[in-house]
Amino acid sequence: MSLQPSEISFDNSYVRELDGFFVPWKGAEFPAPELLRLNHSLAEQLGLSTKTLTTDEGVNLLTGASLPDHAASIALAYAGHQFGGFSPQLGDGRALLVGEVLDLDGDRYDLHLKGSGRTPFSRGGDGKAVLGPVLREYLIGEAMHALGIPTSRALAASLTGEMVAREKLEQGAVLARVASSHLRIGTFQFFAARGETEKVCKLADYAINRHYPDLANQSERYLELFRRVRDAQVSLIAKWVLVGFVHGVMNTDNMTISGETIDYGPCAFIDTYDPKAVFSSIDEHGRYAYGSQPTIGQWNLARFAETLIDLVNPDDSKDAIERLTSELNIYPAKYQSEWLAGMRAKLGLLRNDDDDLQLANGLYESMENQNVDFTNLFRSLAALVEGNDKEPVRALFDDPQAGFNDWLVRYEARLQREETSPVARAQAMNRINPAYIPRNHLVEESLSAANEGDMKPFDQLYEVLSHPFDERPGAERFAEPAPADFGRYMTFCGT
Ligand code: AMP
Ligand code: MG
Repeated sequence: MSLQPSEISFDNSYVRELDGFFVPWKGAEFPAPELLRLNHSLAEQLGLSTKTLTTDEGVNLLTGASLPDHAASIALAYAGHQFGGFSPQLGDGRALLVGEVLDLDGDRYDLHLKGSGRTPFSRGGDGKAVLGPVLREYLIGEAMHALGIPTSRALAASLTGEMVAREKLEQGAVLARVASSHLRIGTFQFFAARGETEKVCKLADYAINRHYPDLANQSERYLELFRRVRDAQVSLIAKWVLVGFVHGVMNTDNMTISGETIDYGPCAFIDTYDPKAVFSSIDEHGRYAYGSQPTIGQWNLARFAETLIDLVNPDDSKDAIERLTSELNIYPAKYQSEWLAGMRAKLGLLRNDDDDLQLANGLYESMENQNVDFTNLFRSLAALVEGNDKEPVRALFDDPQAGFNDWLVRYEARLQREETSPVARAQAMNRINPAYIPRNHLVEESLSAANEGDMKPFDQLYEVLSHPFDERPGAERFAEPAPADFGRYMTFCGT
């Protein structure tokens, strides 16, 4: 038995409008699907009954073990540049788009599964996912959402009842997640690389209708689409950098047209500030290092621009290239101003002063090689702004004499030029500088326990990360840096 349309309804625009962009497909049959965690508030926002989702039929839906016919589930086709090299065919190799749902506000979301079995895009892979990485994506994705960063969101994590071979045998699991779409730069590349301009055009029109509907009737809508995606990516990547997030696998198949974060494989947050921070085991050359993300964002957008040339000017590709290039060239300035606006907010500066860029850069310079905890620094600065003494913030640096003390003098002088009260400013800082991020050692601790059947550390961490700006007594250990013996952290994707 599977769910009836009266219990869950889908409105599948992708299937209706984009024939040839996917393969109709069903999930694998699993021996014993079991719901492990359900995101109740998200389910409610999506207008989905938690009672229905927790029935056997609901769990079959959330794992793909049995999908209703009216869901019209599909595996999406896409290509992508992976670590700079182009793969003309990637696609949903272990994922399925179950269908689209309209939430309480009428906004459209993809309900998408990860780990639901092999598809025609699986290549050598087994189509499966395992518990640790599924819970990791659940936890970090929801933490990102609570931090105010656009992201796909976890609806449910389930066990499948089978063991899956990785380095060792692991418990099979499926993540059900939602995003405002799964259109990626790689979706455009899939058709552009095959010279199927009509399909690229159809896809661009679909993307416009879905994400930027006000462009629909504009004569220059494809160039405008490029601008919107550029701005969405600028805004997203600036938010990542401002909070210390390293995505880890910014391949063009993982970069969305909507500007949402997707694909939480090897991501991690930095502890101490380090522009070269890399966590992913496969990123040997640091292509996707923390400080390289803005530049990579532009590189990815250049690949997107290439797919739009024939749309921007079908008669004159030289003209199209010129126009797209000049839009692309604005990226660094746009990024810098987005980042600077974010830094002003992080530093509690409400006015704009000409030397703020120098001040913000100066702080980063003072942090280099100082083992300073990036997250705690900004919380400590808020305490300083409020009038507390300078020692706690100085104590975060190995040697504050090396540069931070001088920076502090400049910062205090700059604060004098602000008009609002220090208390109000400190409060504003604490509303955007988190006290709690998914610290790597805590994430690992919670996943190890979950693998042993103990979900308590996961639930505690999840709860703290759901309110990242609210410092509370008893949660001190969630704000502490990793213990010295935690060592260098490494993440794995495709696991
Ligand atoms: P990702 O690194 O998760 O962005 O995945 C890159 C590509 O590899 C996508 O086409 C995935 O669907 C595919 N892929 C990753 N893991 C698996 C797996 N276990 N089985 C099949 N395909 C996979
Ligand atoms: Mg991916």
